[in-house]
Amino acid sequence: MIYNSPRGTEDYFGEEIRYRDFLAEVSKKLFKIFNYSEIITPHFEHTEVFSRGIGENSEIVQKEMFTFFDKKNRSLTLRPEGTASVVRAIVENKLYSENLPLKLFYIGSMFRYERPQKGRMREFCQIGVESAGSDSPAIDTEVIWLLYELFRKLGFKNLTLYINNIGCPECRVEYVKMLEGQLLPVKDRLCDDCNARLGKNTLRVFDCKVKTCREVLKDVVKISDNLCKKCLKHFNEVVSLLDVLGIDYIHNKNLVRGFDYYTRTIFEIISSDIDSAQNALGGGGRYDNLIKEFGGPELSSVGFAIGLERTILLMRQLGIKVPDSGVSSDKTYIINMDPSCGRYVFEIMGYLRNHGICCDINFNIKSVGKEIKLAQDKGYDNVIIIGEDEYRKKSIKIKKLKNYSQEEFDWESEKEKILNFLGSME
Ligand code: AMP
Repeated sequence: MIYNSPRGTEDYFGEEIRYRDFLAEVSKKLFKIFNYSEIITPHFEHTEVFSRGIGENSEIVQKEMFTFFDKKNRSLTLRPEGTASVVRAIVENKLYSENLPLKLFYIGSMFRYERPQKGRMREFCQIGVESAGSDSPAIDTEVIWLLYELFRKLGFKNLTLYINNIGCPECRVEYVKMLEGQLLPVKDRLCDDCNARLGKNTLRVFDCKVKTCREVLKDVVKISDNLCKKCLKHFNEVVSLLDVLGIDYIHNKNLVRGFDYYTRTIFEIISSDIDSAQNALGGGGRYDNLIKEFGGPELSSVGFAIGLERTILLMRQLGIKVPDSGVSSDKTYIINMDPSCGRYVFEIMGYLRNHGICCDINFNIKSVGKEIKLAQDKGYDNVIIIGEDEYRKKSIKIKKLKNYSQEEFDWESEKEKILNFLGSME
């Protein structure tokens, strides 16, 4: 019986791990430069954290959550996104008593019951930040800058940053009334999904990909043309700071995002190098009321999340290579031909590994010929053969598999030379 991994999940190994580690390292380094520190929250939460946080009528809560009951009949849900969990953790641990804004980042698996396709999975990894405790437009700009900088550091070009302002609860209520007033008379031209959104989650009609709906939406009022004074001022300041940083953006008046908690600024970064519908690499926005709704103080916040797998797909497509990790790229295989040499072989392996040389030994002794063939098949660059003779002389013979050149060194007195010959990066 051979089992497959569940639909929409994948196993990661080999080169993919190098990409994943690299992306996590680059992000962590950048977050630290921007003064963000890490938070780790559980992979599952009480279901209400998401249903209240993301919104009962959102697509995620309605259709995409992995919800289950534990043995005590409590409803739990695998986290579909990071913000609601981080907000729960901020309130529960009273993290807001520290200096504000609180700047946090996270890296971890998220789970959504979506129809899997390229760049869309049921378990995927998000890297995100949350900055809680300031309503200054400067912090929106900082968060967008961080998102942009991350992709710039990775060497991505052809990126488009979309930004919009979806108002505060006050001006949005007025606007949604106006929008519904315009959509109800033409509801026959809207798809079933959009009809279902009307009155419940009306703003989400802007996310619809159906052509007839898009036609209708071209002519309707836009939220960013109907902002209250405060929201408009906020928006203008965010974009003027983006100008200072030289970050190009497009004000996309049709941009809305699928979470109920957003207020004012929302943004998304897409790559025109991805030729599938899943071209958003990441996005985020401001959420001014969520912490209060979760029983904490009034703390305005803003954050973003990017998809790790989608980012790696693009890195690979653009031929962006993972640079060396400081471990030698040359690999060495130590062939022990005699069980009595075990201690000598371990002494050599210990020294080489301590000096960053990637090496391994044959844990099962076969013939030299078989071991060399195995080393070639596994892509090793060097082999060191240790037999009774070498052990007695305390020497080591290194064979370069590319050109079969061979040199012998004295183990006690020529360690530096050995490291150089094996391709040390130190
Ligand atoms: P969201 O939390 O929906 O704003 O998504 C933020 C980013 O996470 C997206 O731009 C994607 O890069 C990534 N993402 C979201 N959903 C998925 C998914 N089902 N599979 C892979 N990546 C995803």
